[in-house]
Amino acid sequence: MNYMSEVEVAEVQAVVIGAGQAGLSSAYHLRRTGFELDRDFVVLDHNPGPGGAWRYRWRSLTYGKVHGMHSLPGMELTDADPARPSSEVITEYFDRYERRFDLRVRRPVQVRAVREGTGGRLLVETSAGAWSTRTLINATGTWNRPFWPRYEGQETFLGRQLHTAQYPGPEAFAGQRVVVVGGGASATQHLLEIAPHAAATTWVTRRPPVFHEGPFDEEAGREAVALVEERVRQGLPPRSVVSVTGLPLNDAIRRGLSDGVLDRQPMFDRITPEGVEWGWGSPLLERSRELGGGRRVAADVILWATGFRPAIDHLAPLRLREPGGGIRVEGTRAVADPRVHLVGYGPSASTVGANRAGRSAVRDIRRLLTEERVAA
Ligand SMILES: Cc1cc2nc3c(=O)[nH]c(=O)nc-3n(C[C@H](O)[C@H](O)[C@H](O)COP(=O)(O)OP(=O)(O)OC[C@H]3O[C@@H](n4cnc5c(N)ncnc54)[C@H](O)[C@@H]3O)c2cc1C
Repeated sequence: MNYMSEVEVAEVQAVVIGAGQAGLSSAYHLRRTGFELDRDFVVLDHNPGPGGAWRYRWRSLTYGKVHGMHSLPGMELTDADPARPSSEVITEYFDRYERRFDLRVRRPVQVRAVREGTGGRLLVETSAGAWSTRTLINATGTWNRPFWPRYEGQETFLGRQLHTAQYPGPEAFAGQRVVVVGGGASATQHLLEIAPHAAATTWVTRRPPVFHEGPFDEEAGREAVALVEERVRQGLPPRSVVSVTGLPLNDAIRRGLSDGVLDRQPMFDRITPEGVEWGWGSPLLERSRELGGGRRVAADVILWATGFRPAIDHLAPLRLREPGGGIRVEGTRAVADPRVHLVGYGPSASTVGANRAGRSAVRDIRRLLTEERVAA
């Protein structure tokens, strides 16, 4: 017997899952366009307090170090101290925002599954009961799904392995030999912070990193977003926006490049109990040596700065995934199910993108509900 049939199921027009930038922007636009909280929609979040993933960002990621943090709609984030941890600044800002717009996020509520309900509705099953809804805005971000690649010998490593999601700040690496894996902004930030404390650092990436000169203007931003958009339109797993924009060549990166901290090595072939190792690979010895063939680096720590994947396992019963592994999305709407919107997913996985996506998802949802009413 389905246990949900034994408990009361509240009916709403929309459920927003997640109260980070994307979920709060959606909730703001729902309210603005006349949806009433609790009667017409609810916002569910599994964190114990405000801030979305920002609650968990490492303390050395100060507000001055984040690039392009856009305010939420309707209330600017002003006068933030750039020396304070962004986890504090943004968590406090989200808290003020929720109170100012009376968003009453329900937390901690873990959404376990979303499945087909009755009468064309979706059933949202959670740790705090179930909701039956006409539409869904999924805004669950990526923080809960750190991506760990697998390499031969990984389980034999005698040192410590951790992911960016567990990065404790640079002091924890004092006197240690650290291998940092990954070609994104997190990897370069970790290296620049850790190098003054560590005994040695080694940076490895699969592809040579691409740095871009000069300011990243709006047109370049639009082009990058369009590339990610094209992937999700085809149903491929989204890539991060940074993976298509490259890394900004700022002063800190320039220094790292000139003093050797950002001396990138190709990806190692295997992990040994004592460190990492590059095989000979190519039969051409010279080329192999150029690529670091036959080389070993001893390590106490491997830090995987290898990114995150969308946290969407709870949507699995809806079978939205394409054979390519991603969910096909037009704007924010899942092509396979127009009741479902993904905000902060793929091209909208940035603070500015999440803002816009929230507005556009609400516009679509209003249209869908109006059409349903007219048809009824
Ligand atoms: C280290 C780092 C730095 C970044 N810096 C920037 C930057 O400077 N500028 C920028 O624009 N972007 C930055 N980004 C990207 C950033 O993550 C997004 O811009 C934005 O903050 C994501 O917002 P979101 O609402 O999509 O996700 P999140 O902030 O992750 O919010 C998702 C929420 O959903 C909740 N949730 C997840 N699953 C469930 C579930 N099953 N049930 C209930 N609740 C659930 C989570 O608890 C969380 O509160 C950065 C990302 C990282 C990893």
